[in-house]
Amino acid sequence: MAIDTEFGWRGARRTLLVVEDNEINRMMLSAVLEEDFDVIEAEDGFEGLERLEAYSQDIALILLDIYMPRCDGFEFLRRKAVDPRFDTVPVIVTTAGGSIEDEIACLELGANDFVVKPYNFEIIKNRVNNLIRLRESAAIVNILTYDDETGLYNKDFFYHEVEEAFARRPDAQFDLVVGDVENLASLNDRYGEAKCVRLMRDIAGRLTELLPKCIARGRISTELCAFVLEHEERDWEEMLALDTDGLVVPNASVKFGVVENVDRGMPISKLCGLARSTAATIRGRYGVQVALFDDELHARQVLEQTIRESMESALGELQFSVYYQPKHDVHTQHVGGAEALVRWSHPTVGFISPGLFIPIFERNGFITQLDMYVWEQACKELARCREADLPCVPFSVNASRLDFDLPDLPQRFAAIADKYGVDHALLHVELTETAYADNPQRVIDTLHELKELGFSSELDDFGSGYSSLVSLNTLPLDVLKLDMSMVRKATELNDFRIVESTINLAQVLGLQTVVEGVETAEEARRVTEIGCDYIQGYYYSRPLCVEEFEQYLQRDCVSRASDEGEGR
Ligand code: C2E
Ligand code: CA
Ligand code: CA
Repeated sequence: MAIDTEFGWRGARRTLLVVEDNEINRMMLSAVLEEDFDVIEAEDGFEGLERLEAYSQDIALILLDIYMPRCDGFEFLRRKAVDPRFDTVPVIVTTAGGSIEDEIACLELGANDFVVKPYNFEIIKNRVNNLIRLRESAAIVNILTYDDETGLYNKDFFYHEVEEAFARRPDAQFDLVVGDVENLASLNDRYGEAKCVRLMRDIAGRLTELLPKCIARGRISTELCAFVLEHEERDWEEMLALDTDGLVVPNASVKFGVVENVDRGMPISKLCGLARSTAATIRGRYGVQVALFDDELHARQVLEQTIRESMESALGELQFSVYYQPKHDVHTQHVGGAEALVRWSHPTVGFISPGLFIPIFERNGFITQLDMYVWEQACKELARCREADLPCVPFSVNASRLDFDLPDLPQRFAAIADKYGVDHALLHVELTETAYADNPQRVIDTLHELKELGFSSELDDFGSGYSSLVSLNTLPLDVLKLDMSMVRKATELNDFRIVESTINLAQVLGLQTVVEGVETAEEARRVTEIGCDYIQGYYYSRPLCVEEFEQYLQRDCVSRASDEGEGR
């Protein structure tokens, strides 16, 4: 389709196709039209179709004779009409004498206009100009309205239509559905762009069938389709049961976010954002297709946004602090270490749980900056303990899987420790198996480097969901931390055999063990009996702020001295 960037008639010369068997007529027509157009000629319908095939992108209009040998004008029109590449190219039929039946037959076959022989060239030129202008304006409207891959409205027109509908119906209530085709970018890499274009078109088609009574349907980004319907009580699960069988890409999946009774005061783009993040809450969850936006989700989204917007300044304004949870050494019966755990006290929101902000920081990458900050605070605190003559126990600091993407992680850790003159043996890095799963070799290499620099490493959350013996065998670890879910389950079943075999396995591999989440005297007794080395849990202490932690160390120091006194 030859559309100039400059909308109007004064652009580049258009190309016409003249299909006419009479040589004199053809030459006359061409000679006149060549003043304003590029002209391609054909002697009959077949040749005309060949030219159309060869120049389909360029031809702006066809002048067609009816009576020609081999393939006449009717046959030409018939064949042109069934080919979607050509069916919008306008046709002016040239008739001699003008039979009404012929004209009707041509119109039925898709011709747009007529000129009668003998030719009046002024009339022909005007009709050609008018038709081309008309067709190109329609094409531009089409481009401004539709997404050419799916046939849905494009984003801007969809937003426009929805806002118009809201304005026209001030009392009506509307529901919004956004369908998110999962992992479209990786499907694109894997199956190629052409297949993914077809996938989106087929999905849009199937969704249009599922949601027939829409106010508007639009494609609002590469992987998102949006639908606005008048509000009704609906079973969304049933309504959005999209059949993915037979799609060009196997295992394609669509997650839906639904906002019922949308807040009409909010711009439609924002509403789509809400529906989209609602859909994102079930991303990757097998068997769940639809998520409904509700107040709780809304509150969470607002909080998540606050978290994202304030994280940078929070670091500068020292809103993050580090708490220390003591680890009880089973052999000495005294404090044998502590885990550094970050806390966020937000000026307006108040206390925010790390369970909430850490996953967000892991998604946006901020976690690495925060982990460096926690590492530095831990080093500072170790230096303070040394200066205050408190017992110096090793601190374990959490490292997110993203930290392992830093090529110089060990050197950075070392530089910070050295800045505070802290013995590297007093610093342990806690990592989870997800880090290993992401990039095994990189994690192995990094742990080796950390070891060479004198740091220890602990595998955290072992036994929580995904755990593999391969990581235990291949990672150069010093400590294994049993996830608290193992103790919870053992207590519930009154069966500690899995805890016991895990600890035995760690011992065989030469690893020390920490059992996390010990909350009762009975749990402490059972895991002590089994032979773990350290216990961390509320039974001994919750995570403590710096002052409390120092007091804890102080008390431990005193009781250690009295133990030693008694022992003497
Ligand atoms: P985690 O590394 O497994 O840390 C242990 C969590 O269990 C801590 O929660 C701790 O307060 C809690 N806990 C300790 N003993 C008990 C117990 O007896 N019972 C129960 N129910 N819970 C206990 P917290 O501080 O809320 O931290 C949650 C998670 O956030 C941590 O789990 C860790 O994955 C992450 N996290 C915390 N601080 C940091 C950090 O500085 N960097 C990174 N990357 N992650 C951190
Ligand atoms: Ca940890
Ligand atoms: Ca843990």
